[in-house]
Amino acid sequence: MGKPTGFLEFSREMNPALMPEDRIKNFNEFHPPVSLEERQAQGARCMNCGIPFCQSAMSLGGMVTGCPLHNLIPEWNDEIYNGNWEHALARLCKTNSFPEFTGRVCPALCEAACTCGLYDDPVTVRENELAVIEYAFSHGFIKADPPAVRTSKKVAVIGSGPSGLACADRLNRRGHNVTVFEKEDRPGGLLMYGIPNMKLDKTVVARRVDLMIQEGVSFRLGVDASDPDAAKRIAAEYDAVVLCCGAAVPRDLEVPGRRASGIYFAVDFLKTNTKALLNGDLYDLLEQPAAADRAAGAPAPAGVQGTDNRAAGAPVTAGVQSTDDCAAGAPATAGVQGTDDRAAGAPAPAGDGGLISARGKDVIIIGGGDTGNDCVGTCIRHGCRSVTQLEMMPAPPVERAAGNLWPQWPKVLKTDYGQQEAIALFRADPRVYQTTVKSIIADDSGAVTAVETVKLEFAPDPKTGQPVMKQVPGSEKTVPAQLVLIAAGFLGASPETVDAFGAAVGERGCISTAEGGYHCAGNLDEATSAGLFTAGDMHRGQSLVVWAIAEGRAAAKEVDEYLMGYTNML
Ligand SMILES: Cc1cc2nc3c(=O)[nH]c(=O)nc-3n(C[C@H](O)[C@H](O)[C@H](O)COP(=O)(O)OP(=O)(O)OC[C@H]3O[C@@H](n4cnc5c(N)ncnc54)[C@H](O)[C@@H]3O)c2cc1C
Ligand code: SF4
Repeated sequence: MGKPTGFLEFSREMNPALMPEDRIKNFNEFHPPVSLEERQAQGARCMNCGIPFCQSAMSLGGMVTGCPLHNLIPEWNDEIYNGNWEHALARLCKTNSFPEFTGRVCPALCEAACTCGLYDDPVTVRENELAVIEYAFSHGFIKADPPAVRTSKKVAVIGSGPSGLACADRLNRRGHNVTVFEKEDRPGGLLMYGIPNMKLDKTVVARRVDLMIQEGVSFRLGVDASDPDAAKRIAAEYDAVVLCCGAAVPRDLEVPGRRASGIYFAVDFLKTNTKALLNGDLYDLLEQPAAADRAAGAPAPAGVQGTDNRAAGAPVTAGVQSTDDCAAGAPATAGVQGTDDRAAGAPAPAGDGGLISARGKDVIIIGGGDTGNDCVGTCIRHGCRSVTQLEMMPAPPVERAAGNLWPQWPKVLKTDYGQQEAIALFRADPRVYQTTVKSIIADDSGAVTAVETVKLEFAPDPKTGQPVMKQVPGSEKTVPAQLVLIAAGFLGASPETVDAFGAAVGERGCISTAEGGYHCAGNLDEATSAGLFTAGDMHRGQSLVVWAIAEGRAAAKEVDEYLMGYTNML
């Protein structure tokens, strides 16, 4: 413990956020770091608890609290206070493969469990973590470190999200020959094409992938392994295959009018936005009135004209093999519009120039969660006319309820960045609780023009007596909408990819393994001897980046043992 009285002397200071009115002008990250001096003071607040709940990852009250990676938090807080940045980095990287991702986007399960938070504010664990890794990158501590000795084993990792990257990184460091297959045109999974740039700048993802390439990991982009022939060829060529394809099948909306145009899944919307941003044509596309706008005569939005982050995070090119040199001659997919992760029959994302634009539109987002919030922030940056987020459940309490005690995860109202921006711009919280969509109204051309909403209330089920949500008769309202985004959760792994590898699906539409393990219950193909493993959302269901990294790391250990007959990995 660096400073025994630190928690008494210093109060919690967060990295400041730029004002909503300023940050909505572009897609840049908007939390400039506090000074190093201040960061050291924040490290000094850590009490080096006898029982550090922050690193425990205990399940309490049905939710996990504390870090799933068991990060050695008190150790590196002490090193931060003492200015030993290199030591802090060594302890941080012992448990976390990518602190630059979790340091930006993690909801910080560690802070919810921090003892300082019992009577005061918790230690700024997440930002301390980010400070360590960014200090390390900017001071040249992080250099490519390829393994000195290679084994003869070949591993295929399918999917380049955080679980696939973490698994590939560890197996490569162990000396195995690792190839990551990815169906998209850029690696990163939802780090690249889900989480918006203002939360996680895409240069940060590219920086890590470039490092992995220098260390010997191969990336094959544009390879869709849901093709049974591609799956077979991969299985024949590699000693082990790890499926890390996420749980991207979206929950659809089943209401009259659903097939109207102008209705998209949230991730498709976010993906086209990031793609246009990285390709450098987002602002040009936003300035072109879309066909639907011209028809509806929608006004041009004011105030959104940022240009300084054009082409931010140029695509990773160095060392990444694209469709032409796919392993095993696997077929290439065209562009970004994958179809296998969309609910059957759902319309393809087709905006003008590939962008789904919210410019000048009234937008309804169905789903009050984090993905919906990312859509709010993106729509505002597009220059939408209005934005409303519908949530079926009642608003959570502002403070912990009586039964939700520390160190349980606090089930309280959180007003996230997109919602804060909507409040600043439109003077109203975009969230409307206990409300859902009853029907979608379209014009003669089939384009959505409005949404009929209805209020919900809890009423006892006549058979079971359990409270269930029921529509309130007479509470219907018609709300104008030229763009509807569905952010209603995910149903599990793509069945095509699961079937191509012969894996078995269990709860939540995800791949089954033995309890606590990563070896798949199914088998790729009886003719091959490759071991089949899985990790991340494809295994545990839609979750968090920190869990994906934890699963990818743990799966790597199991793969190593499978390949070598023993493992020394921690
Ligand atoms: C909009 C959004 C915002 C989020 N924000 C946060 C956040 O702020 N913080 C947080 O902790 N979590 C967040 N999450 C959740 C988090 O992103 C996921 O839990 C995490 O990315 C899962 O990692 P993964 O590696 O398992 O899968 P993914 O990140 O989904 O990656 C899977 C990869 O596999 C590829 N793939 C799929 N099928 C195939 C195939 N057949 N062949 C080849 N490749 C294939 C996909 O293209 C993709 O690149 C968010 C999720 C969404 C949707
Ligand atoms: S619980 Fe909080 S104060 Fe205690 S060791 Fe962890 S970060 Fe430090």
